[in-house]
Amino acid sequence: MRLQVLGTAAGGGVPQWNCACPGCSGARAHPGHRRRHASLAVQIDDGAYVINATPDIADQIESCAWLRPGPGPRESPLKGVILTDAELDHTIGLLRLREADALEVRSTPVVRHALRPFADLLRPYLQLTWTDADTIPVSGKRPRYAAGSPEATGWVSALRLGPLVYVPAMGVWPDELDEAFEQAACVIVDGTFWDDEEPRRTGISAKTATQMGHLPIEATMERLSRLPGRRLYTHLNNTNPLVDPAAEQHKALAELGIEVAADGMVIDL
Ligand SMILES: [Zn+2]
Repeated sequence: MRLQVLGTAAGGGVPQWNCACPGCSGARAHPGHRRRHASLAVQIDDGAYVINATPDIADQIESCAWLRPGPGPRESPLKGVILTDAELDHTIGLLRLREADALEVRSTPVVRHALRPFADLLRPYLQLTWTDADTIPVSGKRPRYAAGSPEATGWVSALRLGPLVYVPAMGVWPDELDEAFEQAACVIVDGTFWDDEEPRRTGISAKTATQMGHLPIEATMERLSRLPGRRLYTHLNNTNPLVDPAAEQHKALAELGIEVAADGMVIDL
């Protein structure tokens, strides 16, 4: 399975356009520290797919040699997009793909339903075909724009993609996910926040990380370290100390045999 990491940041990216926090300022001063929104390119079944359609999607496609168009003048290898949830940072890139002739979108039914406004906007431009993704529910958190929607399973999911399990947002760690993790050659997991108080301490939210739908790294790293396959964190918020490559937290993870995903990383599976 072919896999390239296209981005590793949570909503807003690093740096976020309206943020002067230490993480964002550091990335402005050192362009090598920048992180695009979390996304993957994968070659599965019969085609190339992007996991989550972020605001950076056009640049992310350009950054991956095997996603670039050709040999025909309007021939793209991109077959579709697979979604973990309906959050805007993971879906707004669908609008950026309107130049396509046709695309497949894989998601849960509840995500598909939430994205009806996108489907309506795109209908005059391209043919979107919606299919079900192979998912494990990991949170019932609805996007803010869908706060009035009924509670349901499938709002936030882990994706099973052959030897890979990708779960950039994880509010709970259910037994079913554990079984999938045990069988996976590689797991790429929610590393949005380092500790539970981080969002409150840094002033970005009145909620804890867990209340925001993200188990913090401190709550998952020991358990992750016991898994048999390769383990990486992704979806780093700009408040996460890991956005500074010199942070001591990198050492703590390395000692547990856990990696921090980097933009552009190629993973052979
Ligand atoms: Zn920031």
